[in-house]
Amino acid sequence: MMPWFKRVDKGIHTPTEEKKETPDGLWYKCPECKTVTSMAEHRKNLNTCVKCDYHDRIGSKEYFAILFDNNKFTELDENLTSGDPLNFVDTKPYPQRIAATQKNTGLKDAVRTAYGKINGQEITIACMDFAFIGGSMGSVVGEKIARAIDHARKTRTPFLMISKSGGARMMEAGFSLMQMAKTSAKLALLSEEGLPYISLLTDPTTGGVTASFAMLGDFNIAEPGALIGFAGPRVIKETIGRDLPKGFQSAEFVLEHGFLDFIVDRKELKQRLTDLLAMVMPTEEENGNKKQVRKTTEKVS
Ligand SMILES: [Zn+2]
Repeated sequence: MMPWFKRVDKGIHTPTEEKKETPDGLWYKCPECKTVTSMAEHRKNLNTCVKCDYHDRIGSKEYFAILFDNNKFTELDENLTSGDPLNFVDTKPYPQRIAATQKNTGLKDAVRTAYGKINGQEITIACMDFAFIGGSMGSVVGEKIARAIDHARKTRTPFLMISKSGGARMMEAGFSLMQMAKTSAKLALLSEEGLPYISLLTDPTTGGVTASFAMLGDFNIAEPGALIGFAGPRVIKETIGRDLPKGFQSAEFVLEHGFLDFIVDRKELKQRLTDLLAMVMPTEEENGNKKQVRKTTEKVS
């Protein structure tokens, strides 16, 4: 006789595409302290936990809404998309992976760049999206950041980079690594021209992004609890064959060891940036002179 509670089939057989997402938009449970709040409350709190301040990962859409006055901004190079320089195939060909990711995320690539105003001060912002192939840095990411820096130089506005990345995009190999040099060179020009560069590192900022533009800010700042590092903890542990100190690679650890200027709560981000920019932006007069100089040299050349 068949026992009543015998499982006939072992395991769960629902294929991934038939699995149902938990209905979006009702409750949020903090992965850190397990506090449950309404999704509306969580969003109002800028996706940080109301109890323990855990900072949930968000994307460019949310950061732009937080930072730009009235969520008004003009996007740069909106439609730049990736080629397939190496004819790369992993579990699927790279162009197919790009197309599928674009469809799923509504994003064109792993960074969006835009300009607008932050409490009245004009600013150019590049913000990475982790949802797009782990925020990996390929040619499009590098090119868009480089062009955003050029926009900041041309309009003499400060540049803010919001990093969130697993590192280089392996499907583009060497082309991906070249982006590190390209963006770093553009940042050097920005600096020579006396324009401030603020780098905000959010969870996680690792690999080639940490090794290039993310750590080159006049100010390198981070969100609380963000994972910041070059290689992941597991790789390092296996390489050096030793246990890592507690909190290794957290923003707090990195700050204590002198690689960050300060940690900023997302709810204070806009005001802190505004104060910082007021301090470091060249005065109208200085800016005016530089514009003048630029125009003259442009005529000469
Ligand atoms: Zn919490």
